[in-house]
Amino acid sequence: MPRLCALCATQRPILKRPKTGQQICKTCFFHVFETEVHNTIVEAQLFQPGDRVAIGASGGKDSTVLAHVMKTLNDRYNYGLELFLLSIDEGITGYRDDSLETVKQNQKEYNLPLKILSYNELYGWTMDSIVEAVGRKNNCTFCGVFRRQALDRGAAMLGVDHIVTGHNADDVAETVLMNIMRGDIARLGRCTAICTKGEDTIKRSKPFKYTYEKEIVMYAYFKHLTYFSTECIYSPDAYRGHARSFLKLLEAARPSAIIDIIYSGEACEVSEEATKELKERKTCKRCGYMSSNDLCKACTLLEGLERGMASAGITDRGRKQLEASGPAPDGLRTIPFFQMNAQSPSQSAPDDGRDSAPPMPAVVGVEAG
Ligand SMILES: [Zn+2]
Ligand SMILES: [Zn+2]
Repeated sequence: MPRLCALCATQRPILKRPKTGQQICKTCFFHVFETEVHNTIVEAQLFQPGDRVAIGASGGKDSTVLAHVMKTLNDRYNYGLELFLLSIDEGITGYRDDSLETVKQNQKEYNLPLKILSYNELYGWTMDSIVEAVGRKNNCTFCGVFRRQALDRGAAMLGVDHIVTGHNADDVAETVLMNIMRGDIARLGRCTAICTKGEDTIKRSKPFKYTYEKEIVMYAYFKHLTYFSTECIYSPDAYRGHARSFLKLLEAARPSAIIDIIYSGEACEVSEEATKELKERKTCKRCGYMSSNDLCKACTLLEGLERGMASAGITDRGRKQLEASGPAPDGLRTIPFFQMNAQSPSQSAPDDGRDSAPPMPAVVGVEAG
């Protein structure tokens, strides 16, 4: 007698679920995958009906599956969200230009509005030209800082105040490991938070926080979703790479390792005292973006690039050299001034009206229905 799906006991199993090792059928896999994400969203109370939410879309597997699942759940459970796709074009020839084609394809399939914001229009530099100027060693610093700010600015242009990203359980577990290995206790608890929001920053959350990368790949495969699968040509973040291979070894020995590491990070949530320093925020004098110094990191990096002193935003020595060479000359290209919700139509919605909205119903258990 052929074996049957561990969940519905009627269909033939066609896959072994990476998270649990269960042999299950395709229908049950889709169901548990989507329901677990839904439950994560409901438990964390990520959304309120009427929210305008941007999906950070890179064309890669995580954000492609996220866009699909967000649309599916929004329709199925009547979240009442207005969804957008938001893509950042770093200006990497042969990488981002191709992956953006994938995003455009997704836009048509899901019929969601898409906003693409490029480093070039925001900073006057592409990653190609930055790498030309600074070499391959520190380019990820520029890209990380520039992307973070670009996403917030793109969100403000769309009038949304919430960005969801495709960070998955593997990414979160890797970050926990990296913070442990760096002894960065203040970040340890914070990095497992499903949602981050400072005083005047745009809310960001990770609905895939507990979703395994292997299951995301499987989901994309069985749903025939098209995504772009090449790694960034300038990348490798060597330290993360080590954490990643270590995590894969642990997962192979015991699949629950990924989720266990996330739980450990959550249990380490640090006292207010330890995180106080991280929370202090000011506004950048030059561009209005939130910053812990007079100048935000992006403005410092950009000034360094513009003045041919690229290390200014990276090392203390570079910073001092830049300061010693006098004030910024006139005509320096700067980042346009940042305004939260510059064109937000929903900005005037009163808070109390939203609070009274009924909570979304949770689906209990993950058995196939
Ligand atoms: Zn089944
Ligand atoms: Zn700035």
